[in-house]
Order: sequence, then C-alpha cells, then structure tokens
Amino acid sequence: MASLGIPGNTIEILQKHHFNIQKKYGQNFLVDTHVLEKIMDAAEITKEDCVVEIGPGIGTMTQYLAERAREVAAVEIDRNLIPILEETLADYQNVTIINEDILKVDLNSLVQEKNQGRPVKVVANLPYYITTPIIMALFENHVPIKSITIMVQKEVADRMQVGPGTKDYGALSLAVQYYAKPEIVAQVPPNCFIPRPGVGSAVIRLTRYENPPVEVKNEGLLFALIRAAFNQRRKTLANAIANAAGLPFSREDVVAALEKMQMPPAVRGEALTLEQFGKLADFLEYSS
Ligand code: SAM
Repeated sequence: MASLGIPGNTIEILQKHHFNIQKKYGQNFLVDTHVLEKIMDAAEITKEDCVVEIGPGIGTMTQYLAERAREVAAVEIDRNLIPILEETLADYQNVTIINEDILKVDLNSLVQEKNQGRPVKVVANLPYYITTPIIMALFENHVPIKSITIMVQKEVADRMQVGPGTKDYGALSLAVQYYAKPEIVAQVPPNCFIPRPGVGSAVIRLTRYENPPVEVKNEGLLFALIRAAFNQRRKTLANAIANAAGLPFSREDVVAALEKMQMPPAVRGEALTLEQFGKLADFLEYSS
C-alpha cells in the first residue's frame, strides 16, 4: 500500500470511508514522510522491539512501526477508525489494534502479554487534550518502558525540558525529569498535519532512567510537595505546603527544613531544583 504519510493518500482514505474528523479526540493526522522517518530514527526501533502506539488514527505511523518492530500494539479510542485501520494494516501480521481509551487500558497487563513484562517503547502522535495525563499514567503506574517518543504541543515539550527560573518550569518538568531524560528531537509546523492544529508541535524523546537521578525515602511525598508547590505557584513554598490538603506540615516545619538546606524562608517552589525538592521531602519525612 502507498504511504499514508502523503496528504493525497490520507485524504483519499478519509473520503473513501466517509470519515468525520473528531476534534474532541484531538485528531490531527500526520502527513509528512520526513517527520515520520525522524520519529522512527529518534525511537531507534529495531526488530527486537515491542512498541505500544497511542492513537494510531488511520494507521500512518503504525505502518512505519510495523515495518521496523517485532510487534506493535496500537490503542485507538475512536471506533469509527477501526475499519480503516483494518484496511490500512491488513498486510501486517505483527500489529494488534485495541479499541479502547488509553487511560483505561491496563498497560502493565498489556506489556506482560505482548512482551513478557520486558520494557516496551511507546511511540505516539499524542492527542493534545490529554498529553499530561497520558505521560503521568505511564510513569506513575510504573509501566515497564525503555523510552517514550512522542509528538506533543511545542509548549508542552518545552515544559518537560526546562529547569528552575523559567516560566515553563512546573510539576510536569519535575515529574518527567525524575523518571526520564528528555530530548527534543524535532520541531514540526502545523502544515505537516490534516487538519492543521492551531499550535506548533515538537517530537520529544523521554529515555527512562533505570534509577531516578534523585533518591528519596518517600516518592509519594516528593510528588505531593511538588503538586502543592505548583498548585499555588505565587505563594511561598512554606505557605503552599502548609495550605495543601492532605499534607500534615506546618509553615514552621517547612521553614525549618528550608533553613537546613540554607534556603530563605520566603522561597517559592519554582526556584527549587528536583534535587532540592528531594532533600526537602527527606527532611520533612524525618521531622514528622
Ligand atoms: N497517529 C495518527 C497520526 O499520526 O496521524 C493520529 C494522531 S492524532 C494527533 C491522535 C489520535 O489519538 C487520534 O486517532 C485519536 O482518535 C486518538 N485518541 C484520542 N484520545 C484517545 C484516547 N483517550 N485513547 C486512545 N486514543 C485516543
């Protein structure tokens, strides 16, 4: 079958199936073979790999993955795309299509079934309306993953990569950097999609760390502190943590811990590195 990553072929298949593009599912189909190749190169897909694709759409990237990987499991929410995928992927015996919401799939079981629990690679042109929940679910559920290579909104890719002292720095930056090494590998303009999204896009690769770069006694507490800090970004860190529901620390507890770290009592969360959040979590854990 001719590559779908060319506008004419994508339009033809959409028209043939009278498919209505669903904005609510973030459907922007990739139509640029150069970008598709770049994503394959960044993900370094080989015949050893089992790949999970999120949102295969009409199967454009799935074809590229099926050519290169040993096995592909593609999870698509829109049931109207299933007959299209059955047609565009008919030539590939190594692809399983799962008609489900990715946030409802038990990914640990899927990895167990498809790859005997060994780490998989996740590759996707993500639906932008749920980018953060998808990434957080992959990490927080401890799905065995080697790397995640994804197309996201440019601004979200920036947020994953930055450190303290920039406006984009936040809970997503810290969570991603705790679990993985982020690298932006391509910038992708709106004209590479049908329909064109209203924002620029970027491909980012997140390579999972075997061990997090920061060791903490209580990972749950670390993330609760990070959430508290950025939920009330304008407040001092001590006030944000003292005000957070579910955290048992007073303003004085936090100020005392900050003092041990030689940080000013009025510091804001956005000034702390991941390592400093780790230290704070350990000081508070031991003081409680
Ligand atoms: N991979 C295709 C491509 O590159 O042309 C389509 C990418 S499009 C940006 C996002 C895809 O994710 C759509 O096919 C959409 O239907 C699907 N999708 C949206 N929400 C989803 C969810 N919760 N679970 C699984 N798939 C979802």
